[in-house]
Amino acid sequence: MNEKAIVARLAQLAEIGKHAGGIDRALATPQERRARELFAKWARDGGYALTQDAAGNLFARRAGARTDAAPILVGSHLDTVPTGGAYDGAYGVAGAMCALELLDRRGITLQHPAEAVAWAGEEGSRFPLGCLGSSAFTGLWRLEDVLALSASDGVMLRDALNSAAGGLLPDVPARDAQRTAAYLELHVEQGPVLERGGVPLGVVTAIAGQRRYSITIEGESGHAGTVPMQLRNDPLGAAAEVVLAIESSARDAGETVATIGRFTVEPGGTNVIPARVIFSLDVRSPLDDRVSMVEEAAHRALETAQRQRRVQGSMECLEARPPAPMDERMRAAVHRAITGMNERAIDIPSGAGHDAMCLARIAPAAMIFVPSIGGRSHVGAERTADADLERGVEALAAAIIEVDAALGEN
Ligand SMILES: [Zn+2]
Repeated sequence: MNEKAIVARLAQLAEIGKHAGGIDRALATPQERRARELFAKWARDGGYALTQDAAGNLFARRAGARTDAAPILVGSHLDTVPTGGAYDGAYGVAGAMCALELLDRRGITLQHPAEAVAWAGEEGSRFPLGCLGSSAFTGLWRLEDVLALSASDGVMLRDALNSAAGGLLPDVPARDAQRTAAYLELHVEQGPVLERGGVPLGVVTAIAGQRRYSITIEGESGHAGTVPMQLRNDPLGAAAEVVLAIESSARDAGETVATIGRFTVEPGGTNVIPARVIFSLDVRSPLDDRVSMVEEAAHRALETAQRQRRVQGSMECLEARPPAPMDERMRAAVHRAITGMNERAIDIPSGAGHDAMCLARIAPAAMIFVPSIGGRSHVGAERTADADLERGVEALAAAIIEVDAALGEN
């Protein structure tokens, strides 16, 4: 492997599923399968033992000195959101492979086996489950329930993974069930914090918990010209107050983000007083009580609006995912690795979900972030500077060594 291997590999992956606006590689499509084939080729070229599980996760194993030891897993995902970028997920998979090769090139013997992993279907862009492969691997979801999921086009995952077009790779042995010693994931930040701070590396403190809601406010519709202002029960005015209350509560809470990304006004006539307003709310924080604070603020604002504006409000929680703190000892090991490189890193929470959330439920886990140019991600224009990509791979390789040592005889 040469120093630019990570850049070259990401360029190779970026060709797969590429179109004018970005990259489409949804789980178990021909494009996503081609990316898995490329990973398999890298593994074979590197002399790593390749295995695959029934959910489509791929593992490339570098042997350790102790054959009985559980492996350190190092990975991310190869699938993308629709019209996604070349770095989200792909960087952590190609980076894991490059890190194993760096260890080889430097003649480093680890106690534990280390496996580069390509997790299947992290984005949930075809089958309705995010972190699909890592959920199945960690037992958060039963394999049979995962395989029974249907895509929006009606295809069952079980059938998609059996098809020649997007299915499991032939001639790859099944992975045995075994313990996981530790998990590391390298990822682009997908936000602006590292770039703004002029810091090349981030060590993730926790992956934010997330709750999603649907909020509905009902009022009374009427003629825009004939109903006097003081006689209206306008749900849109009420919604405006609720939206602003949510925004200020998230600001006051700190380390919390709240987003209203979808907003519907019914019936939607320019000369009709609205009858009903429906909007989404997405609240995330590494601290669960902060998410609760925003939820309570939204409830209070709805109650106030009901009293003062004679409207009817309701709020439904559609999804609640707790925060996933990263392991203290693992974070310390990653910091030691980065300090040893004479590089700087800051602690940073992750507002986005990652496979590490699932892995953190069964093993000590840590994540390393590199800067995203302009903080942009989930778009075709997603970029990270070559030097940052290479530094991240170095940090990952150094972190694997530190983690191997920190795990001791485990
Ligand atoms: Zn990702």
